[in-house]
Amino acid sequence: MRVRFAPSPTGHLHIGGARTAIFNWLFARHNNGVFLVRVEDTDVERSKQEYVDSILESLKWLHLTPDEPLTFQLSRIEEHKQLINQLLEKGLVYPCFCEPKDVEDRLKDFKKGIAEKYDGTCRDKSYTPKDLKKPHAIRFKLPEREKISFKDLIRGTVTFDIDQLDDFVILRRDGVPTYNFCVVVDDIFMKISHVIRGEDHISNTPKQLLIYDALGAEPPIFAHLPLILGSSGGKLSKRDAAVSVVEYKNQGFLPEALFNYLVRLGWAHGDQEVFSKQEMIDFFSLDKVGKKGAIFDTKKLLWLNGIYIRNLKFNEFAKAAAEAINDKLKKLTAVWKEDMLGQLFELYKERATTMCELVDNMISFAHAPEHLDVGLIKKWVSPQTKTLLFEFVKGMDEMEEHTHENLIALARHICELSGVKLVALAQPLRLALTGSTHSPGVFELMEVLGCEESKKRVKQLVGGL
Ligand SMILES: [Zn+2]
Repeated sequence: MRVRFAPSPTGHLHIGGARTAIFNWLFARHNNGVFLVRVEDTDVERSKQEYVDSILESLKWLHLTPDEPLTFQLSRIEEHKQLINQLLEKGLVYPCFCEPKDVEDRLKDFKKGIAEKYDGTCRDKSYTPKDLKKPHAIRFKLPEREKISFKDLIRGTVTFDIDQLDDFVILRRDGVPTYNFCVVVDDIFMKISHVIRGEDHISNTPKQLLIYDALGAEPPIFAHLPLILGSSGGKLSKRDAAVSVVEYKNQGFLPEALFNYLVRLGWAHGDQEVFSKQEMIDFFSLDKVGKKGAIFDTKKLLWLNGIYIRNLKFNEFAKAAAEAINDKLKKLTAVWKEDMLGQLFELYKERATTMCELVDNMISFAHAPEHLDVGLIKKWVSPQTKTLLFEFVKGMDEMEEHTHENLIALARHICELSGVKLVALAQPLRLALTGSTHSPGVFELMEVLGCEESKKRVKQLVGGL
């Protein structure tokens, strides 16, 4: 089995494209097949090298490396043209000498009426080799058939009426073969057995099947994946969520988490949400892909990313952060010593949903909070708080080793003597240390921060009360 992912370099890798690539990759791995990548760069005006680089970078980040060298569609354009000449000799395609403007005008007329179709002006016109020197396009001659069907691995049998099509162009007047023709020729050339792609390609399939027929080639097996939808139920757009893989990378998502999330988007294995790579390979099959569009859920992606972050060891985190958010990582390593960083990471990773959030929180913990939230002070500071904090600082002075066990024992003791719950001291301490009431365990943080800096921050809060 041989499959391919075929992105057009007219933008960054879209989240839907990434899912298509992942499904192809899993299908290949599950079946001991071959996964290939072909860059469809025949849209010369819109294709850009920066997007080729960006797409390949995103695929690499997701560990979707092709099993054979990359291919570029444009590099085979001469072979495409030769095949078109062969079809011309067989009379399966014909030159169209209509001026583009004339065709447009006729299309406008058609718009008023039924479908946008070429009217077949040049279909049965005879032409000489000399005529072929004049500017012309090449059109595909639709055969005398009523219907065209294929079996889709996800959608079952799909049938199109042939009168939905017209004699479509396969070679433009500028000498560049069109998308549908190139796709078919390259899939034949690359011996692709299964074409797994987005549902937005389904309307291309009848044209492509006709081209396979004309070339005397066996078509591959098709599987059209349902679209990824936004929360409104329409196609996922920038208003719903970030749409390119590179944005998720920059926001501090882990490639393994995004991979896992995208696999579950439209595919299921019971209720399981978290999968190892090997499990995904073992369990993956196209018949478990849903027919309906899958709604993109940022909250679930954040939840899953948090799970993957918690599973990281510090060196793995540092490696992932260096690849995705190196500027932030540099700031982080500038404010904390290495041994402290490792300890802080263990504390902070428990609550983080993205690497950016994690790093930002760790960076901000390096400095005493500057402005305390008045609302939080009102909520957590009572007339008694000052006394509790004083007692706590005094206890710290008398303490030999400032371990979190000793610190929490001290806090418990003070609270018991004053007849208050631990939270009455712990939350003001947290506020003093971090400026927030949401943070990792405050006594663990104090242990890492050290006695002097901790006391300094507590005194700063007391001074402000
Ligand atoms: Zn014509």
